[in-house]
Amino acid sequence: MPELPEVEVVRRGLAEHVVGHTIESVLVKHPRSVRRHELGGDDLAARMTGLRIESACRRGKFLWLTFDDPDAALVVHLGMSGQMLVQPAQAPLEKHAHIVAALDNGTQLRFVDQRTFGGWALNRLITLDGTDVPESVAHIARDPLDPQFDTEAVVARIRGKSSEIKRVLLDQTVVSGIGNIYADEALWRARIHGERSAAALTRPAVRRLLGDVQAVMAEALDAGGTSFDALYVNVNGSSGYFERSLAAYGRADRPCRRCGAPIRREKFMNRSSFSCPRCQPKPRR
Ligand SMILES: [Zn+2]
Repeated sequence: MPELPEVEVVRRGLAEHVVGHTIESVLVKHPRSVRRHELGGDDLAARMTGLRIESACRRGKFLWLTFDDPDAALVVHLGMSGQMLVQPAQAPLEKHAHIVAALDNGTQLRFVDQRTFGGWALNRLITLDGTDVPESVAHIARDPLDPQFDTEAVVARIRGKSSEIKRVLLDQTVVSGIGNIYADEALWRARIHGERSAAALTRPAVRRLLGDVQAVMAEALDAGGTSFDALYVNVNGSSGYFERSLAAYGRADRPCRRCGAPIRREKFMNRSSFSCPRCQPKPRR
């Protein structure tokens, strides 16, 4: 599952290669890839044809394109294996290219998705808190890389929760875009065990933790942002950041980069959590 930095890399690629261009035709080759579009593939294709792409936007892990039609946005679900590829029209079609949009500059925007968990859907844009967002994204809170992210308001919301801090970090209605990997990395940096109660953390501790989330994401973005070439916008696979720079996630039994204690793996919310037993003491029950 791509996380926020990978989605942001895709957004930047789209901003560079498809914004400003008009869609001349859309071909839907696999119905599963448009199942989130209620009126079906023919409707999606008909409505997108002739639209000019105005911007590529993201909130958390949600990605969308806006057009010269102020009511419409194309929400792109990347799912487990979705890719947005920009290719010359004459390039052979990828095996799992399920939606193909031809642009006015001789390129095609292709949605390639081997496992078909992702897809495209047109959505109505609504204005929320001064920002236009697609209807299906309206419940998603701003993410820590959003220029309008209100740190103090989010600190207060987090401290208002009585559940475990890791659970709160993963709650997309409180703060969006933080997945399992970035939660574990930020908690390790902040020396906080994920099962500590959010309400019991001090205001400066939560502020620091959010700063650590931002730093981890920014570093991943720097690493991932350099790994795609001009015409290939790709989210499939890791950015290389994961193997080289992770301090906690996926490092069970390997020494903590700060104190040398073996990193521990625990079950949390049906997934694995990684932390340092010495730097991040577990709360007493
Ligand atoms: Zn440690």
